[in-house]
Amino acid sequence: MTLRLFDTATRELRDFTPREAGKVGMYICGLTTQGAPHIGHIRFAVAFDVLRRWLETGHGYDVTLVRNVTDIDDKVLRKAAEAGEPWFALTYRNERLTSQALDALGVVPATYEPRATGHVPDMVTLMETLVEKGHAYAAPDGSGDVYFDVRSWPDYGSLTGQSLDDMANADDADPRGKRDPRDFALWKGRKADEPESASWPTPFGPGRPGWHLECSAMARRWLGDEFDIHGGGIDLRFPHHENEQAQSRAAGLGFARYWLHNAWVTVKGQKMGKSLGNALEVRHLLEETRPLVLRYYLTAAHYRSMIEYHAGSLDEAAGAVERIEGFLERASRRGAIEPVAAADLPAAFVASMDDDLGVSGALAVVHDTVRAGNSALDEDDDEAALSAAAAVVAMTEVLGVNPLAAHWGSGSSREDAAAELALEALVRAQLDARQVARQERDFERADEIRDTLTAVGIEITDTPSGAQWSLARQARSDADQAADPTDTTHTTSAARGAEKAQG
Ligand SMILES: [Zn+2]
Repeated sequence: MTLRLFDTATRELRDFTPREAGKVGMYICGLTTQGAPHIGHIRFAVAFDVLRRWLETGHGYDVTLVRNVTDIDDKVLRKAAEAGEPWFALTYRNERLTSQALDALGVVPATYEPRATGHVPDMVTLMETLVEKGHAYAAPDGSGDVYFDVRSWPDYGSLTGQSLDDMANADDADPRGKRDPRDFALWKGRKADEPESASWPTPFGPGRPGWHLECSAMARRWLGDEFDIHGGGIDLRFPHHENEQAQSRAAGLGFARYWLHNAWVTVKGQKMGKSLGNALEVRHLLEETRPLVLRYYLTAAHYRSMIEYHAGSLDEAAGAVERIEGFLERASRRGAIEPVAAADLPAAFVASMDDDLGVSGALAVVHDTVRAGNSALDEDDDEAALSAAAAVVAMTEVLGVNPLAAHWGSGSSREDAAAELALEALVRAQLDARQVARQERDFERADEIRDTLTAVGIEITDTPSGAQWSLARQARSDADQAADPTDTTHTTSAARGAEKAQG
């Protein structure tokens, strides 16, 4: 089985062959940490998480995934100045929010997440090489800027298929010092109004990195002069990726062998932007949507297709997740579900995934298997049902949407279900003892029991039909908070008895 990926550099599907057998080096452009991430910002991480999982599970590759953090740039400095806070406080806070969002959505952590500010020496080395080879120059105006000389590199434009004459000017620095207005900044000399903490010494003068240079330097440091896959959002193709490739190749490095780009999340056909407010920030969406549902939503579209977000967008994903969960729950009552090995994944699923990560086809196989499994359950064919469940677990795990994955902590795994039953029995025994104490008018004892339960985060509500208990909100995990709050409300046996008596 051969994995084929759409290489945006050659604009065609190519058989994927890693440069070193069994290993894949992958660099993904991460976020500029200027704000809290919304779902449009983090789609790339989910898209490339599916690729990473498929490379590992479907093909057995040992993947080194490097995803950078652009923790300094013009916008970061401007926003920090507006907010009156240190730029590094702002950027680190947003980096943490991004990590939390990706973790909540079950994105497997990168092998390494380098920050631009930690790699200035690597950038200086690359700039010196480019200057020596005649592909870069320090601005003659003494500004401390260093530019890439686009006309010195005939291959410039090849990644995006553009000729130099058709390109827009690089508006990243004052063009006065540039030989050509399309020359882009490798390094930006320090300006008088910029904080001293945002400047590093170099042979060209103090300053800070240009965005493009960061990625070339960090990819080289952690993946070597040449690596397999470079990924990022489609909007990064030009100028960012064109410039990354030009400066790395001009410096004599092989750089990326395959380029993959994911599409956007759009609202009314437009790329999701900050102007939409904070409602679509991942942390706010997760207050009302289960993380697994949001993950499914972002995973279900092909990575090169736009996802058009609208109110009610997540309902369809929620329905699909519930169908998978409902089947696995039914099946788990008939026996243990052991996920199948990669070699035993359904052939149609494998074929879809190998065809440029065809998740739509792969999910169709998942849902067909769920339907077949439900029919088997209806016919009491436990063996067929459990074998379908095993395949569903393995397939959804590849896509990062396995409801039984410990990550979701959804209460749907067998261990969680057992723990819930044990807790129910223990609390019920305490509530029965409290009821006896009250009947004996030993109110001190009754209050003591109540206080003990309250102290460990169990809230008791006395109702006409008996005492009910629930886990206090602050004692519950984030994942539980996203679920229906009535899930953890339990009626005591005494109350159930009362209901029965009434019925
Ligand atoms: Zn980049």
